Amino acid sequence: SRRDLAATLRDLDGQSYARYRSLVGEWPIPHGTLEVVRTQADPFAPPSRVRITLPDAAPEHLTTTADRRRAHATFLLRRLHRALRGTPLQLDAGGQEVLDRTAGRVLPDGTVVVELGAPLPGPKRRILGREAATLLGETLPAAVAGLRWEALPDDGRGAATRFAETVEDAVALRGALADRGLVAFVADGAVLPRRSGIDDRPLERATPFAAPEGLRVTLGTPNAGPVVGMGIPEGVTLIVGGGYHGKSTLLRAIEAGVHDHGPGDGRERVVARVDAVKVRAEDGRSVVRSDVSAFVSHLPSGEPTDDFSTTNASGSTSQAASMVEAIEAGAGVLLVDEDTSATNMMIRDARMQQLIATEPLVPFVERIRPLHAERGVSSVLVMGGSGDYLGVADTVIMMSSYAADEVTTRAHEIAASTPGRTEEHSGFPAVAARVVDPGSLDPAGRQGKRRITARGTDTLTFGEDDVDLSAVGQVVDRSQVTGIGRAMALLGDHVLDGGITLAEGLDVLDAQIAREGVEALRDGPRDPADLALPRRHEVAAAVNRLRSLRVLTLQREQ
Ligand code: ADP
Ligand code: MG
Repeated sequence: SRRDLAATLRDLDGQSYARYRSLVGEWPIPHGTLEVVRTQADPFAPPSRVRITLPDAAPEHLTTTADRRRAHATFLLRRLHRALRGTPLQLDAGGQEVLDRTAGRVLPDGTVVVELGAPLPGPKRRILGREAATLLGETLPAAVAGLRWEALPDDGRGAATRFAETVEDAVALRGALADRGLVAFVADGAVLPRRSGIDDRPLERATPFAAPEGLRVTLGTPNAGPVVGMGIPEGVTLIVGGGYHGKSTLLRAIEAGVHDHGPGDGRERVVARVDAVKVRAEDGRSVVRSDVSAFVSHLPSGEPTDDFSTTNASGSTSQAASMVEAIEAGAGVLLVDEDTSATNMMIRDARMQQLIATEPLVPFVERIRPLHAERGVSSVLVMGGSGDYLGVADTVIMMSSYAADEVTTRAHEIAASTPGRTEEHSGFPAVAARVVDPGSLDPAGRQGKRRITARGTDTLTFGEDDVDLSAVGQVVDRSQVTGIGRAMALLGDHVLDGGITLAEGLDVLDAQIAREGVEALRDGPRDPADLALPRRHEVAAAVNRLRSLRVLTLQREQ
């Protein structure tokens, strides 16, 4: 084994910055090793990458399942992030979600692996040896040593165990949904609102959620026992209520329920099926050969709607495309909010039916029932502005001063006793499956160098393209955006060969991710990227927004 890292760094003091390269390799630290994976060429380049490996650092009860390991890794990352506050070290601890990420992993044998960015000091292109020695030789090893089970104080151990149990319970709740005929579950006592649009922590002094009697269900969990809350059934669910009464907040919590949250988040017992997908209007987006004929019957330009492309979609066509693309990628539940929908995609009332005879758009109200009856795709829709949906909903939830009430019977009575719109379309037509040209999912930039980078959660740079993800609401962090880019590159590199459809390619990718976790998205052991696992639905959403995407063929159902 090599010499002491701190001593070596002190010896390098004053030498040219490039000499940091000599550090690459493994160094012993107390309780484990520190590997310098790669160093930066100059002080302004992306930070050097360091990997810490601590054997036997996690206790057996937190390593028994992949969910427990993911939970414990998240717990440790958050703890380490706090310990490193005030240092220049860059740790990808993520946000409120508990995701599988490259920055921190717990292995089945109890080894804890942490990776982080270390900007090495050298303002005048000379190594600041003493400062680097303190950072890598003292601060970091001391902080990571504190992650070991042996070193955790009693309350830290209790918190770690609770964290894993909470995540395990959320996974169990989500897993119970299908058998119970539910698409989502919101436990009594859950805190749904967030502090602000840019602060995802729970709102203080919020009204806790309470299930309305008609929708109250009890689901079992391995750790907390039976949990009571609101079960949202399969089919068509409407969330109604006056403005500012908490409708969108409920829907957003359901959207977030595809991911797990830690204790204290408020949404740790709010779960949705993994295939629940938020769709919204997004004018200006690119659409490449989508079959939007289910929602757009014809266009004034005469363009085909079963093979529709545009570089600049309207509000309604963008939403139509996002809905059929979600269905194509395997969504089982669509989540739609009137606040972010195109009005003419949602409703067409009796008076407009009289005035405008030839409307190209088939409003969602016409398709929402057959979508479930014929395709098995449920919908949860926030709609305070149009009563046309009262008659097509299986379940109607009313939000009133943040309290949920079930008003299905009353809604059906109103729908039956007042004149409404006339049905103009029936059934849900076939949606073509697309075969994507794998060559168009190539992240090589003009110089041939691969470019996959995230700018926040809104933009993914993929090759020469900037993919706008700002309307893809269930993307939760920057590392997940990078993960989406990697997944797209994998699809293009080998998964989509042989003329399989995009959906089939996503199946192959899912299987690989189920085997390897986030490692499936890595480029080998020296890959310095912070990556977090995305869902197939967000990968598909990014593919669909890639302006340079090419679609080879459309496969139509017989
Ligand atoms: P709507 O969609 O019905 O117009 P929102 O869901 O946007 O209403 O909520 C309006 C406001 O109420 C938001 O600022 C939100 O944070 C707050 N809010 C929502 N639910 C609660 C709650 N349970 N307790 C306290 N405030 C809440
Ligand atoms: Mg709203």
